[in-house]
Amino acid sequence: MKLVQLWRHIHGSTYPIRAGDLAVEWSRQVSPDRPIGEVLAQDLPGFEGGLFWLPTKKEWVILHAVHEDAPGRANFTIGHEFGHYVLHRSLEDAFRCSQSATLGLEAKKIEREADLFASYLLMPNDDFREQVKDKHITLDVLAHCASRYGVSLTAAILKWIDFTERSAIVVFAREGILHWWRASSSAKRYGFDQLREGMELPARSLAVQPRTSSYHSDSRDGTEHPAGVWFRDAHAREMVIISDRYDMSISLLMIDDVVRESEVAAPLDLLNGLPAFK
Ligand SMILES: [Zn+2]
Repeated sequence: MKLVQLWRHIHGSTYPIRAGDLAVEWSRQVSPDRPIGEVLAQDLPGFEGGLFWLPTKKEWVILHAVHEDAPGRANFTIGHEFGHYVLHRSLEDAFRCSQSATLGLEAKKIEREADLFASYLLMPNDDFREQVKDKHITLDVLAHCASRYGVSLTAAILKWIDFTERSAIVVFAREGILHWWRASSSAKRYGFDQLREGMELPARSLAVQPRTSSYHSDSRDGTEHPAGVWFRDAHAREMVIISDRYDMSISLLMIDDVVRESEVAAPLDLLNGLPAFK
């Protein structure tokens, strides 16, 4: 039985899908000799989550960091560990996953796979499309989806970027230096696929000056930047989350309303960017 069908069978068409309940139920059916026995909230120094084989109990356990203020993060982390169980349990008997691994920011293949698994499991594409159909995209709209699926706003934004037909880019930065980014396929078509890790964020971007910005700014709806701030030839609407927990700023850039198709915009600071940031 497919995972989501199993969930529907037991819980009906309800959201959020609770990754922990589903992991325990599914593993018992599929692998009764080696199931996931428990899902426990437990502080894991330096790790966001883990999946461990317990030889004495002959079962697996999922551990996840405690986030009383952000329960959505736990659900996604559990989904990620469940992904390791489904896809990788024959490869290793201990998986330890960092914050960046559970957001898919790491290059390691099994981490990306576990992340994709959690993303598809908890945020089904068809339902997500329905939620944002014909909507003016704001952080509030995406936060509504995050709460529907029981995941963090960051996880919801990354999922949306993957399927949206709008031209959008999400940029993760630390101390004003671009750390990681992901673009929608449409943004890539327009030629925005040129950001580089280690480049400085534009000086006038909202992410760099979130609190002192002279722009009239509703941070949930975003700030309209003229051409020349983020991209030489295109306007961009920038929405920003400052994530103290991740120690990062996360900028969501919407660019498709304004760019002309014939233009290929280049990030302004690319040519005088800094050396690669490690
Ligand atoms: Zn992992």
